[in-house]
Amino acid sequence: MITIICYFCFETFEIFLDNYNTTNTEIWDCEICCNPNKIQYQVRNRKIIIFDISDGNE
Ligand SMILES: [Zn+2]
Repeated sequence: MITIICYFCFETFEIFLDNYNTTNTEIWDCEICCNPNKIQYQVRNRKIIIFDISDGNE
């Protein structure tokens, strides 16, 4: 479980990310404003590193 800041409304909410040892991209809808956040992350030594959070509307 990890806390992120929404790209749209700047509120924080919690998401669940898998512990794969590669770079991943996932779309999570904000709990507050329901807009899709595109989360780019990587797992290193079981620690999740968030690279970027951007607009998930393609
Ligand atoms: Zn939001």
